[in-house]
Amino acid sequence: LFLEQPLGAGQPVPLTQEQAHYLFGVMRLGKGAGVLVFNGRDGEWRAEVAEAGKRGGLLVCAEQTAPLRVPPDLWLMFAPIKKARTDFIVEKAAEMGVRRILPVQTRFTNSERIRQDRLQAHAVEAAEQCGGTFVPEVCDLVALDRLLADWPAERRIMWCDENMLGARAGLLAGAGETEPRGFEEAPKSPSPGPWAVLIGPEGGFAEAEQARLRRMEQVVPVSLGPRILRADTAAVAALTLWQSVLGD
Ligand code: SAM
Repeated sequence: LFLEQPLGAGQPVPLTQEQAHYLFGVMRLGKGAGVLVFNGRDGEWRAEVAEAGKRGGLLVCAEQTAPLRVPPDLWLMFAPIKKARTDFIVEKAAEMGVRRILPVQTRFTNSERIRQDRLQAHAVEAAEQCGGTFVPEVCDLVALDRLLADWPAERRIMWCDENMLGARAGLLAGAGETEPRGFEEAPKSPSPGPWAVLIGPEGGFAEAEQARLRRMEQVVPVSLGPRILRADTAAVAALTLWQSVLGD
């Protein structure tokens, strides 16, 4: 169960009415029951129910069952698509382990706004479900152009460029190259420094966006294979590719 409160040995954790309802109403736990809790900062703890009530309750942390495992410094930037598929992208990114999730507004993005709080809740649920101890921050929608305008020099961008079809999956092209190359030839995985994966909208990236990305030396264009994938499929494929080849 995800809690906001700090966790530590012997730490009393007062429960909100909503948390109490879930533990004692839905899960039907009683006094003395054990529950695994995490807050995204202090690792996972086994806690015991000290008080159980309708409007609240109290847990006491007994022992840490897993340390905090922070995923590699990888951001997922994607252009939001239909609600359910955007939820899917956030859930899969949280399950697979990213540090931050940034919905980006591009020229052809078809949804003008997102419910950042709802997407953050999806990331929490995904972490709870997969036994994660870290929850990626889901940022509010930001214009891609603005983000790229002052992009940090040290953070590379794995740009999933749907123009590079016809390549086998998993090919990586050197920045500025037109023909993708096999990963086996790729420059050795760069310093394990920070990365971002960039996925475009259903309509793809606009010409001007592609030109700008091609000019940025931090950008590494990547092909995800010979077929055009839906953005949610592409997100999962790209994260898998990153972890298998570029991840530190
Ligand atoms: N512009 C495409 C078209 O005209 O059908 C559709 C874009 S695709 C649905 C959404 C995003 O997924 C793309 O912007 C790209 O980031 C990624 N993508 C999909 N297939 C890809 C591939 N084979 N290689 C690299 N990226 C891909």
